[in-house]
Amino acid sequence: LIADRAHRRRLPVYVVGGFVRDLLLNRPSQDFDIVVEGDAIALARALERELGGRVTSHSRFGTAKWHIAEIRASLLKNTLRLDNADLSDLPEYLDFISARTEFYDYPTALPTVERSSIKLDLHRRDFTINTLALRLDGRHYGDLYDYWGGYADLQRGLIRVLHSLSFVDDPTRMLRAVRFEQRFGFQIEDRTLQLMHEARDLLRQVSGDRLRHELELILAEEDPLPALQRLEELQLLESIHPDLHWNPQLNDPMHAALKAPLESAWNLPETWGGAPIRRMLAYLVWFLPLPAEKSANLAQRLRLPHHLREGLKIGAELIPDLPGLLDCAPSRIVARLDGVPLPVIYALFLLNRTSEIAEVLSTYATRWRHIHPVTDGHTLRAMGVSPGPAYRRILWALRAAWLDGEIHSPEEERRLLEQ
Ligand code: ATP
Repeated sequence: LIADRAHRRRLPVYVVGGFVRDLLLNRPSQDFDIVVEGDAIALARALERELGGRVTSHSRFGTAKWHIAEIRASLLKNTLRLDNADLSDLPEYLDFISARTEFYDYPTALPTVERSSIKLDLHRRDFTINTLALRLDGRHYGDLYDYWGGYADLQRGLIRVLHSLSFVDDPTRMLRAVRFEQRFGFQIEDRTLQLMHEARDLLRQVSGDRLRHELELILAEEDPLPALQRLEELQLLESIHPDLHWNPQLNDPMHAALKAPLESAWNLPETWGGAPIRRMLAYLVWFLPLPAEKSANLAQRLRLPHHLREGLKIGAELIPDLPGLLDCAPSRIVARLDGVPLPVIYALFLLNRTSEIAEVLSTYATRWRHIHPVTDGHTLRAMGVSPGPAYRRILWALRAAWLDGEIHSPEEERRLLEQ
């Protein structure tokens, strides 16, 4: 469809990068990057006019996104006439890119952009395996364009940069190299590895936001643990910040935070502070075992969200108190844990799985925190207690009595209240 509309406009059009790489590796991919030798925004807008959906664009970069989630059913049935296809066979959006070259005015700067050919467009990419293009328009349909040796590297399983200043232009590519290497079971090619050693100190200059984004792409991998280990081995983590390391002892809790089913009885929220819970748990598991000062440094370096920083601080204060809680009455434990965010408690549970502390944290999260007296402010007011600090004291005394097994029924609670 796109090929046809591009062909009518005499525009060479290609699907490039991850999609082609994954196709040749026989891995499913929904990541359609379409490069147009010409005006990609105009092509996307023409498709929008004819077929619907919605286009958003960036004129500075010559890029457009065609959102097709709502028109997928009609595209499949009416336009493509694929009656038996599944909606999920089509992605929710397609990216259109005008072939462009990028110049870096100084290392780590954001690039200056200029229109160009497909060959130069592919040259601005990170690794050879991401430079393959499949042409779509007219009689060229299905032609594989391999200007930079991507096919051979895909066959050999090598991650190779396109030129010796690649990591200097964009140091985050070092993290991407490790991510692809571990995802595909490839090897970073020797010269690329050497360039990485030479360039790794530049990571110090990269903004926390960009680094966090790349680290989160790693955490989102199917198995992020080998990539974290490899980042450590290549000294890339400490190049980001001297306090940042990966300790394989964290493999189990990190796996539990990111992949294993979460304990359903805890009723953890799906997001925390607007961010996915598993990602937040991953940071907690990673940084809570560190001394408070180091974890605060890392939170600042990676510009972690405010609630996560607070959570790390509260967690660091709690850790030294945990062993002492083992011999305490439930009300003492609840008094200490109330106010600690549940994701922090869960992360500490994962980090202490083999000790009795886990049991205490789990009982708190699944039982004790839900125990409250029947009495509330209204009851007290009706009894003639004047509103004020006494309310809190009384309600807490009643809750503590329930928690510590001193009362077991609303009747017993009422009797205690009347005393
Ligand atoms: P994934 O399968 O993880 O989505 P991808 O290869 O599709 O991997 P994206 O991050 O979606 O990666 O990027 C799309 C394309 O843009 C990549 O194929 C890559 O060539 C290029 N690219 C992305 N980030 C960079 C970068 N920092 N430097 C150079 N090229 C990049």
